[in-house]
Amino acid sequence: MYELKAIIIGAGMAGLAAGIALRQAGYDVEIYEKTRKLRPAGAGISLWSNGVKVLNKLGLGKEIARIGGEMNRMEYRSHTDEVLNHINLLPLIDSVGERPYPVSRTDLQQIMLEAFGEDDVRLGMRCVAVEQDEQSATAIFEDGTQATGDLVIGADGVHSVVRHHVTGEETQARYAGYVNWNGIVEASPDLAEKDVWVIYVGDQKRASMMPIGDNRFYFFFGCPMGQGTQVEPEKRSEELSKIFAGWPQAVQNLIAKINPLEVNRLEIGDINPLKQLAKNRVVIVGDSAHATTPTLGQGGCQAMEDAEVLSRFLITTNLSVPDALKRYEAERKERTSGLVLKARKRTDTIYGKPPEVTQQWYKQLKEEKPQDVVNALEKIILGGPLR
Ligand SMILES: Cc1cc2nc3c(=O)[nH]c(=O)nc-3n(C[C@H](O)[C@H](O)[C@H](O)COP(=O)(O)OP(=O)(O)OC[C@H]3O[C@@H](n4cnc5c(N)ncnc54)[C@H](O)[C@@H]3O)c2cc1C
Repeated sequence: MYELKAIIIGAGMAGLAAGIALRQAGYDVEIYEKTRKLRPAGAGISLWSNGVKVLNKLGLGKEIARIGGEMNRMEYRSHTDEVLNHINLLPLIDSVGERPYPVSRTDLQQIMLEAFGEDDVRLGMRCVAVEQDEQSATAIFEDGTQATGDLVIGADGVHSVVRHHVTGEETQARYAGYVNWNGIVEASPDLAEKDVWVIYVGDQKRASMMPIGDNRFYFFFGCPMGQGTQVEPEKRSEELSKIFAGWPQAVQNLIAKINPLEVNRLEIGDINPLKQLAKNRVVIVGDSAHATTPTLGQGGCQAMEDAEVLSRFLITTNLSVPDALKRYEAERKERTSGLVLKARKRTDTIYGKPPEVTQQWYKQLKEEKPQDVVNALEKIILGGPLR
């Protein structure tokens, strides 16, 4: 469909990916973002090959390779520093046709903003409602202004307003039962080898580092906890020291190096799979449509896949906008619901729901053939739209 006007709500990775794809197709695209200054939430992200392929198609491949870390191996270690499993990722890269790239979120956002046109994102515009009729869809903003187009794309994250319009009901995020701390440190040999993603597991907790560009590690910690705990930024290293007391030297070195004021601390959640991702001329993408726990590293990658599938149907099918959005929904619902539920199950396994299952998982990690891990990753990656 030619010369459509798309109104996108939200300038996270879902909104920017959809915006870049539709602009490249010659559409008139407007992105509206509620914050006045764009800052990515979180420090790093692992873009698996399925997400990277979409970015390649958008012309960002070279830039992603520039900001990405060279992750050639994965290593599971116990909290007593025993190597449980060591996985060579090169066969995976060979079989799926692209590397995974862990990146800094700030770098990724910068690349995507430049590709879309940074000055074209309208900041300080909080969408409060959406309306539509047979010919158009309209976003209404807090300041009383409106934006009308052929379609509205809700890329407004886990607490989406647009989702409410699409599904007709309130959807609450579900607490997954654990807290995540994350940040970035300079890479050094006393932390981990430079091309390894290392994951320490034990006592239903995790501590991990993965390489990103510019000789840095993205790190994260996870620990089961009741909902509603808060710790002031300056006390976050102290908190981590207590929770991970007695863990291997590399973990202690990491905690000693991090600047507590730059550590993000967040309660992790997801949303139940939705019955609808589109309603006539309004559609949802990214976390708005399928927020997931991050234990498969697929939330952002699914946002990229959404942009690919949505733009493909809009460009190639020519009956009507509602028809293209229905096709998008049909293709994306099963894929994204499946991954949300798979990640939820993995989260429970990792974080002690129940503890016996986690104990069993530690045993399995030790016995598992590296090829089985590669096969599982391959299946997820090749389930995407760009094989
Ligand atoms: C700890 C953690 C680790 C993760 N690790 C990975 C990983 O390794 N790999 C991976 O692929 N994914 C990962 N994810 C998931 C990934 O971060 C998300 O799936 C992704 O950021 C979702 O992007 P989005 O654009 O849909 O939403 P968001 O990034 O939430 O963007 C939504 C945007 O919409 C704006 N907005 C919200 N409401 C309104 C409104 N009413 N009006 C206007 N604007 C609005 C917001 O300000 C924001 O800019 C992780 C998530 C977490 C929490």
